[in-house]
Amino acid sequence: MNILLVEDDAALAEATATAMRARGWRVDVSATGEPVPRSVQQDDYDALVLDIGLPGVDGLETLRRVRAQGSYLPVLMLTARDGVEDRVAGLESGADDYLVKPFAVPELLARLRALVRRHEFRRDGALALGQLRFDSSARRAFIGEASVHLTARESVVLEYLLQQVGRIVARDKLAALIPDWNAAASDNALELLMSRLRGKIEPAGVRLRTVRGLGYLIEAVEPA
Ligand code: CA
Repeated sequence: MNILLVEDDAALAEATATAMRARGWRVDVSATGEPVPRSVQQDDYDALVLDIGLPGVDGLETLRRVRAQGSYLPVLMLTARDGVEDRVAGLESGADDYLVKPFAVPELLARLRALVRRHEFRRDGALALGQLRFDSSARRAFIGEASVHLTARESVVLEYLLQQVGRIVARDKLAALIPDWNAAASDNALELLMSRLRGKIEPAGVRLRTVRGLGYLIEAVEPA
């Protein structure tokens, strides 16, 4: 594992980095957010651990900049408060998970491992998760070698969710992607579309979750 840890509390950063290195992980530590967008472009990190409260550019803005570059790097945010607002802001900015301080370092390591595992992401032009594969150029989905019949709308939704694996995608965002979508009918109709899509893809060992009040998320089912 290759981790970028962004934390301005030097003692916490040191303790966390030491625990990661003890497991054979490679860790770079930054005390500020400014260099992060460039660092994630230059280095091949598996995940980013990002404190929200940073001097200068804060963690939320740093994350927005990283996502604005089109990076799907898994991000775990550290927040000092158990505030719902912070959590929602973090998820909306593109965080995949968050941990409230103070946390136990083994918990952080376990969450990171789970996060990276969920982000199985093939780089050969096909999007893949579990046994599910989506070929963006042919616009076809497969479970193993078997083709999955998708409607045009399902295919648009699935492709986008797979590009955002492990991240919550807002309902409005999805609805806006669907061709000829009637916004007035959207909530129930979208849930129905998602439910049909769920039935088609879940045999592939992936889960399409409805996150109440926020949107939808696709992830791999954790191996037992
Ligand atoms: Ca801090």
